[in-house]
Amino acid sequence: MSISNAEWEIMRVVWAKGRTTSNEILDILSQKTDWTSSTVKTLLRRLVDKGYLATEKVGKSFVYSALLTESDSINAQADGLFSKFCQRKHVAILEHLLEQTLMTEADIDQLQALLLSKKTEAVEQVPCNCTPGQCNCQEHVHILEEVTANGN
Ligand SMILES: [Zn+2]
Repeated sequence: MSISNAEWEIMRVVWAKGRTTSNEILDILSQKTDWTSSTVKTLLRRLVDKGYLATEKVGKSFVYSALLTESDSINAQADGLFSKFCQRKHVAILEHLLEQTLMTEADIDQLQALLLSKKTEAVEQVPCNCTPGQCNCQEHVHILEEVTANGN
């Protein structure tokens, strides 16, 4: 799934409204963009072509609705972000996110329960999943292998 930042702005309105028109989207997004009606229509056409939006003609105007759920799309964005970094750096990213996330006590309880349940599937060491040359851990693995080979 690839959604540009501009397309994401549109999707957010569609998720919030359920069913909406290009005029309503333009109205809402005029608070934060200087987009014209044709900008919005171009983005809507792209999202329909990608299969992310359904469109239906009602009277004189087109009504748009989402074919992707907001939560699936948020998860896909988060997965896409994490896939850009070595698996070994993911916990550091999570720590950074946790530090700056506003949370209720209930949120914290839920996260604590999740962390506890993760204990049963904890690994001894998180493997590096990078392309060799794109990450330092991979280099370390090679150096270690050489050292071990030479030592024998
Ligand atoms: Zn790595």
